[in-house]
Amino acid sequence: MNGGIKITSPTPEQLIGVLYADGISDIRVLDVMQRLSRAMFIPDAFRHRAYENAALPIGHHQTISQPTVVARMTEALRLDDRIKVLEIGTGSGYQTSELAMLCRRVYTVERHKPLLTLAEERFKALAFTNIVTRLGDGSMGWREQAPFGRIMVTAAAIDVPGVLLDQLDEGGIMLVPVGLDERNQHLIRVVKSASGIETEDLGPTRFVPLISSEEEVAPARGLGQP
Ligand code: SAH
Repeated sequence: MNGGIKITSPTPEQLIGVLYADGISDIRVLDVMQRLSRAMFIPDAFRHRAYENAALPIGHHQTISQPTVVARMTEALRLDDRIKVLEIGTGSGYQTSELAMLCRRVYTVERHKPLLTLAEERFKALAFTNIVTRLGDGSMGWREQAPFGRIMVTAAAIDVPGVLLDQLDEGGIMLVPVGLDERNQHLIRVVKSASGIETEDLGPTRFVPLISSEEEVAPARGLGQP
């Protein structure tokens, strides 16, 4: 036993304090992080840890992302309520829900059926009407719905996926963790404009790998060239 010492779990309010201290300054992002119950997206066994700033297991060797990462990525996407977003890797549906609270519509793709089914139940319970789901390989994007104003990939690719870049609208922003070695992975922000592609390294990060066939993760042609 622990000698009678009571270990208390962090509260949602404490988590918001952690996000703020970590440099998240977009008030709309902090607001949705406060309003959305992370506990709803976590399996029973880990629910008491819902407001820790930690990635937690959601089954099938996948994890719900760390709150500071969700906040940082959401902020970096610069959303507004006219924007259509493509998300690859629904997972628990937590990040999807944050996006849905800040944009017009989210199209989200997940390859694990049991995870997608659970996420869909949560979207229904939360009465979201602007989330469209699809089971399958998201590295091919969602051609029928392209172009997208924003694309968020929540699994690590070997390079910026060219297929997804093609589905990004002019003026659009894509976020993608790049690098399969977990110790050497960087979050990349790609901005597409009429004059070309600009990439920016937002720093080290840690995601599970994007699983797809070789052809589907082919890097964007010409990327990184002047
Ligand atoms: N953002 C999620 C966490 C995502 S974990 C959350 O907040 O819970 C990454 C997810 O990407 C996993 O659920 C994994 O199954 C999924 N994934 C990996 N490769 C994929 C692919 N090619 N297409 C669709 N989903 C994929």
